[in-house]
Amino acid sequence: MKLLPKTCALFSLLCASALVLCSCSGRGTPPQAAQSTPSPAPSVDTSGFQQNMCVSNVFRMNSVCQTPFGYYLQSEGIVYALDPQTKRMAPVCSRPECRHGDEHCNGWINSLFLSYYNGMVYYANSDSEDCWHLYAMQPDGTGHRKIQSIQFEATGMIHSYQPMLYNGTVYFIDSGALYSVALGADIHTAVRLLAEDSTSKLESSWKFWADDSAAYAMNHVLRADGVYQDVLYQLGTDEAGTKELWRSSQTQVPQQRDSCSSWYISHGQLYYYASGNDVWRIDLNSGQAHQLIGLTGVLESGTAVFSQSAIAVLNDTPDPQWGPQSGYRSGGDTLRIYDYTGVLRREISLSAIYQAYPDVAHCTMVFADDSSVYLLAYRGMEHSPSSVFYQISQDSGALNEIAGWIGSALNPHTPDWQEEEGVR
Ligand SMILES: [Zn+2]
Repeated sequence: MKLLPKTCALFSLLCASALVLCSCSGRGTPPQAAQSTPSPAPSVDTSGFQQNMCVSNVFRMNSVCQTPFGYYLQSEGIVYALDPQTKRMAPVCSRPECRHGDEHCNGWINSLFLSYYNGMVYYANSDSEDCWHLYAMQPDGTGHRKIQSIQFEATGMIHSYQPMLYNGTVYFIDSGALYSVALGADIHTAVRLLAEDSTSKLESSWKFWADDSAAYAMNHVLRADGVYQDVLYQLGTDEAGTKELWRSSQTQVPQQRDSCSSWYISHGQLYYYASGNDVWRIDLNSGQAHQLIGLTGVLESGTAVFSQSAIAVLNDTPDPQWGPQSGYRSGGDTLRIYDYTGVLRREISLSAIYQAYPDVAHCTMVFADDSSVYLLAYRGMEHSPSSVFYQISQDSGALNEIAGWIGSALNPHTPDWQEEEGVR
């Protein structure tokens, strides 16, 4: 993923993250009192990879997973638990004296990803040499321990991708190649699954996915001829077993003016939405493509998130200042909820967000479950640290602010993003 730093604020945020990443190796594992947690929900996917939590856009919140104790998500390096019933989030740290602001907090992970597997929360962090490792902790934030390295040689944070943990196998990317390694095993036992051919690519980013017994990797490419394309690979157990399965054609992407595509794979079906076009369903066995939702003439551009029961499409647009190929987006005031037969179930206006916060520059969906869509409203500018986090009911269209979201305590008009006293 090539990052085009839009603003000093975004860039300094990345730099700050990278700096802090360097200072947090060798953390201790102090025994702590157990956090009081709600009773476990019965239906949490414990395979390590949760399709609903894995949005395909790396610019959104990328460290989020569902646990029996609520949604765990990262903000400013700290893991928070979000209770979808009370719509409140709190740091995963029970130390009463802790301010939950630095690497001494039990909730400190500063990770590119989050995963819930076999009762443990997994995350990735880099050491002082910028080499990435997989860590695990108890769901109450105690017992952090290093599991294994997931990078052969140190590289910068910007060159790192989200790894994937699925049913005891870790998938990671290093130096233009995709690997798998058993959870907990030495990285030198890793097997190369695919070596990227960078010929005639101007930009390239990768995203792992898992569905039933299959593991996938999607390559989002800007070709030398200026066309964006997505190429899906099914990962084998070695290079010979890995095969290209699908690539977006002019059918799915008739006139790609926009770099943004959203997708989801479930039960062997790929659901694919390129901004400004229709939502397609592609059977990965037969290769047959079927137009699921006709959006041409309805939406000029947009982004989608998917849950098991719903496809949510938001009419945000490419950022007018940075252009359609920057990946930066703006606006978004109408949310459409479709089911998997392609029927529009509800149209939800977000105008109340813009009334409450007239300086909102961009609304972006983070993830969806079967009852809600979670959405971030950036205040002042795209990717601003000042943001409001919403849970939106798919049934009633009610917009609920999440309490305890750290971005809502930051004033976008304070240059150094200092916390404003008494805002929350
Ligand atoms: Zn803390």
